[in-house]
Amino acid sequence: ANGRRFFVGGNWKMNYSKAISDVVNKALNNTKDVDVEIVCAPPALFIQEFVASKPAHVEVAAQNCYLAKDGAFTGEISPEMVKEAGCAWVILGHSERRTLFHEDDDFLKKKIDYVLNKTDVNVIACIGETLQEREAGKTNEVVERQVKAYQEKIANDQYSRVVIAYEPVWAIGTGKVATPQQAQDVHEHLRQFIGKNATADVAKSIRIIYGGSVNGANCKELAQKPDIDGFLVGGASLKPEFEQICKARQ
Ligand code: PEP
Repeated sequence: ANGRRFFVGGNWKMNYSKAISDVVNKALNNTKDVDVEIVCAPPALFIQEFVASKPAHVEVAAQNCYLAKDGAFTGEISPEMVKEAGCAWVILGHSERRTLFHEDDDFLKKKIDYVLNKTDVNVIACIGETLQEREAGKTNEVVERQVKAYQEKIANDQYSRVVIAYEPVWAIGTGKVATPQQAQDVHEHLRQFIGKNATADVAKSIRIIYGGSVNGANCKELAQKPDIDGFLVGGASLKPEFEQICKARQ
């Protein structure tokens, strides 16, 4: 064992119904005895409802937050509110935030700085290249730039509060999963790169999870790879197969 606890995040995106919540809770109830850290991220409005209904071993994340405690920021929620609502985690820099809502590395750097230094909320920090960038041979360059931006604001003793989610944009919601080797190659490269900007211990202990069309059928093979420490799951996190994904390393 490498000492890194397997981590599975479920990103519900802008999806919610009582039926979805029931399906997810049923799947989660079957993961109680599994050695895995499970973190679900419902839409902000339904976080408290999920906190009240989820099994105790499951943690909760917000899908996004702003970088101030309170004030005139219409439509935003603060890291402090995220914490108050019962979240131990927040997802930052999801590709949909980057693409549709124009969040860039500079903004995300400020967000992770605020969350890590002003609260004790943990961060799932997302990165990933587009299809165009991959085809141009720029994958490593792009993920290095993105992870470096976060790293500028992460102190060496804060890495235990951060999980890096490598999510190639071309694999998110497309049904086009990266091959286990494609994911492993990027994770291995990232681990080295992160270590260079931090310490060898950080490289060894940081969890790097994969996201992009993970499902019950492909999760086991991905989970075999030495540098894949878990998953960030979109679509399949709303389905009964989320149970199998949580058990991918068993
Ligand atoms: C995601 O949104 O983080 C994601 C990986 O989505 P999907 O699993 O649906 O591709």
